[in-house]
Amino acid sequence: MLAAYASAVGGDDPLANLTVGDLPAPEPQPGWARVRVRAASLNHHDIWTLRGVSSAPVTPPQILGCDAAGEVDAYGGEPPAGAPPVGARVVVYPIITCGRCPACIADEPLGCRFFRMLSEPPLGGALAEYVEAPASNLVVLPDQVSFADAACLPTAYLTAYRALFVRAALRPGMNVLVQGATGGVATACILLGRLAGITVYATSRDEAKRAFAVDLGAEAAFPVERETARAVIGATGGLGVDAVVDTVGEPTWDLSLRAVRPGGVVVVPGATGGPNPPAQLNRIFFRSVTVAGTTMGTRGELRRLVDLTATGALRPLIGSTHPLRDAAAAFAEMAGGDLRGKIVLET
Ligand SMILES: [Zn+2]
Repeated sequence: MLAAYASAVGGDDPLANLTVGDLPAPEPQPGWARVRVRAASLNHHDIWTLRGVSSAPVTPPQILGCDAAGEVDAYGGEPPAGAPPVGARVVVYPIITCGRCPACIADEPLGCRFFRMLSEPPLGGALAEYVEAPASNLVVLPDQVSFADAACLPTAYLTAYRALFVRAALRPGMNVLVQGATGGVATACILLGRLAGITVYATSRDEAKRAFAVDLGAEAAFPVERETARAVIGATGGLGVDAVVDTVGEPTWDLSLRAVRPGGVVVVPGATGGPNPPAQLNRIFFRSVTVAGTTMGTRGELRRLVDLTATGALRPLIGSTHPLRDAAAAFAEMAGGDLRGKIVLET
């Protein structure tokens, strides 16, 4: 089968480790399904994998990709009770856990010591014609939800959903500053925030991207500079925002701490601009700011996103679509940083 995979890891240029070529299709074990992937989407997670950074040592060839939507192709052995039939349209919940430990039973998958995402060793990835996953990870897609839209949901939209509504506990009428205006998680935060009646402010260094964020539904968009904190505080009645979602890190951290209100939350779902800003602990303790890391979300939250997409309330923003064989061009687009939402690969 055709797949996009890491054929090496490390080095100065992670994209040089990417190969698109033929690998054996997975043979699912009992209780697992093989899905014929129709659409997959890229995440920065894939670039980390090309660097060799993952939850376990990466041994090439490692198929990339966390987000897959397609049709159930086969089961290993008998389909488990309640599993969708062969041919059903599904999106794959990308977190694989033991399913039995106290954390799994409490629906807190991150607490499971067997936590893995698709494309993390020893699991295969979504950027291929076929991917395998436990049958319990298949979420059935209503006919109204396209494969491309569904492929946006499992990582970026799920991460944004949990960041906004669980970690920041935002409710209608509250406000949030989204650092970065046009990446996958940032655009998901703008769309989901607006949908929930939350006032969204965005930032970008780039004027055209700021205009784009406003078109998408942000109340206002600001440059990444120190004076922006004053503008955000002014826009929120002198207080600062209830929450900041900062996926960028080093370039934006100072602004995040200045723009959040006393007692507010800075949610960190990523650090695409570098993981080690000066911590400024004085701002954190003196103003009772909570810093909340977050990764992904639960199966139930993914189902909720599928439902929101099925009703038409949510339309994931897709910046570009490529055939799987052109994965190298798609990765170059993501690494170049000139994103407008999600990049989808069709197989
Ligand atoms: Zn577990």
